[in-house]
Amino acid sequence: DSRAFDREVKSVCPFCGVGCQVSLKVKDDEVAWVDGIDGPANEGRLCVKGRFGFDYIHHPHRLTKPLIRREGALKGMNVDPGNPLSHFREASWEEALDAAASGLARLRDDAGERVAGFGSAKCSNEEAYLFQKLIRQGFGHNNVDHCTRLCHASSVAALMENVGSGAVTATFNQIENADVAIVIGANPIENHPVAATYFKQFAKRGGKLIVMDPRGQSLKRHATHMLQFRPGTDVAMLNAIMHVIVTEQLYDRQYVEGFTENWDALAAHLEGFAPEEMEPLCGVPARTLREVARDFATATTGMIFWGMGVSQHIHGTDNSRCLISLALMCGHVGRPGTGLHPLRGQNNVQGASDAGLIPMFLPDYQPVTDEGVRSSFAEIWKSGDFSDQKGLTVTEILDAVHAGWVQGMYILGENPAMSDPDLDHARAALAKLDHLVVQDIFLTETAMYADVVLPAAAFYEKSGTVTNTNRQVQMGHPAVPPPGQARPDWEITQDLARRLGLDWSYCDPSEVFAEMKRGMPSLDNITWARVASEGAVTYPSQSPDDPGQPIVFGDGFPREGGRARFTPASIIAPDETPDAEFPMILTTGRQLEHWHTGAMTRRASVLDAVEPEANCSLHPRTLRRLGVVPGADIRLTTRRGSITLMARADRAVSEDMVFLPFAFVEAAANLLTNPAIDPFGMIPEFKFAAVRAEAS
Ligand code: SF4
Repeated sequence: DSRAFDREVKSVCPFCGVGCQVSLKVKDDEVAWVDGIDGPANEGRLCVKGRFGFDYIHHPHRLTKPLIRREGALKGMNVDPGNPLSHFREASWEEALDAAASGLARLRDDAGERVAGFGSAKCSNEEAYLFQKLIRQGFGHNNVDHCTRLCHASSVAALMENVGSGAVTATFNQIENADVAIVIGANPIENHPVAATYFKQFAKRGGKLIVMDPRGQSLKRHATHMLQFRPGTDVAMLNAIMHVIVTEQLYDRQYVEGFTENWDALAAHLEGFAPEEMEPLCGVPARTLREVARDFATATTGMIFWGMGVSQHIHGTDNSRCLISLALMCGHVGRPGTGLHPLRGQNNVQGASDAGLIPMFLPDYQPVTDEGVRSSFAEIWKSGDFSDQKGLTVTEILDAVHAGWVQGMYILGENPAMSDPDLDHARAALAKLDHLVVQDIFLTETAMYADVVLPAAAFYEKSGTVTNTNRQVQMGHPAVPPPGQARPDWEITQDLARRLGLDWSYCDPSEVFAEMKRGMPSLDNITWARVASEGAVTYPSQSPDDPGQPIVFGDGFPREGGRARFTPASIIAPDETPDAEFPMILTTGRQLEHWHTGAMTRRASVLDAVEPEANCSLHPRTLRRLGVVPGADIRLTTRRGSITLMARADRAVSEDMVFLPFAFVEAAANLLTNPAIDPFGMIPEFKFAAVRAEAS
């Protein structure tokens, strides 16, 4: 029987932030297939990645032994991931951990600030917590960050500033109680496919779905309005919508007076944003802007969902400020069917951020600059004289490497040699490091620059909790053993910590979770045993039998006085504007079948078969003008680099745009992207660069 299996193990899909629960069917110590089960975020549903994207864990490229770079071997992308022994030699765990720790300790003892760490949103909550604890306790500073910096950092900055909390105010499932929903700068059918099924059901039962995106997308088939605005003009468009709500007196006066502050400043600011004046900027007819404003403001219940199209701009924080203001002025927060929901990308980016993998915050977003907070963690950790200064962010750390301030790094599960903007700059920084320790499941592009490579277990090979976009804490259980000598990340980090002189003695991730609870009020009433037995608990949970609150802030906000704030936003042009040399706009993103830098999904046989080749999308008329037939090669060039890859015709892309997925190492999108950053969230402008496209 080809469908026979030896055992069934429950876990959580390791790809996107939806957090679909899965049942892994295991045969002969290999995952044979995956089914969706009845988790709170998926109710049995899975997308193509969750269902078919699992066999990367059995790929022959898996790291099975620790590796140490051979004396004199070159660093970088010249290493063959299938034959790492040309540049590395195998080592015992003892030797590799000693080499990893002694190199980092040498730099620490020289001057602690010289070491920095990138943790991972693909590891468990417990592993993220231990990673930030290692950097803070072991090196005495806060130079620790992770991929939230490239993802929703600007959304979190705006949410923290204006509603006092960085997490969603309502689960995406609340759309079933909504009358109207805005989806902006997100493409959920490709990037959050199971969440998108709830959005489609909402539209089917008559909900008004308003999609706003510079790129067309298939969700528009379900929408009452599709606003295909000009890239980078979010603030102009959103301010125009709010202008209508203010001038037509459609706002919720009682809510504004009872729950918010700074209304007069916002209302005065919006006077200059009449739709008729914004139409030439954002490209959306004034009539449509007025209709959307009326639909959203007059609905009893409304939600706003957003993605990287909002956050990955130099004005990403301003974009989110506008969305927060829009929801607040309509009173669309804190009730069933209302809420603000930045759709999280990675499976555990919410949990890794909550666990303190951020340079300015200890766990639960408690500021490192607060002496009381630092001393309470020093007490929990029984030591920890770490800095009161905010640490460096992802992009700042790589700049600091070039400047010579940071000379050593510990990178766990991140791939900056593919994920950071302006890759030549990022890769040169990795090559310049005096000592680089990389812990991962594959010899990633980043691991090719390492001095020591530590082989880690994949998520389906270990225990741990993860927190999805809905604030739901869920648990994975080990289904198969890790290959060779690979081990769970928390064990490796602990072994490294001990060699750095820290007195750690965790026997199980549950002990780490218990320690996290001591410093994280968000985990009140949530225990390891509860998550294991109930399958999921949403935070905040108000009692040991409360499954958790899907909606928060019904009775005020966690800010001084309990009021949310309106922060006006002005129009800021993108960092680069198209010109004669680079006349088009480049925007990057994901495709349904591939995950981020491709390390996992390009080694998943079905997904790689469905989408095997580096590609970019342009409007058919643009291709004709350039003399490129669909399927032929095209050359893309920005001020930072050049790549050649296959061109696809796609009417969803406007005639002056190129859409470029970033999963393909052979035509790495981030060789082209602009490293200019948002000053608040410190997030790069991945969604806008000036580009030239030409026949190859
Ligand atoms: Fe996995 Fe996200 Fe797909 Fe669910 S929607 S199966 S979590 S990739």
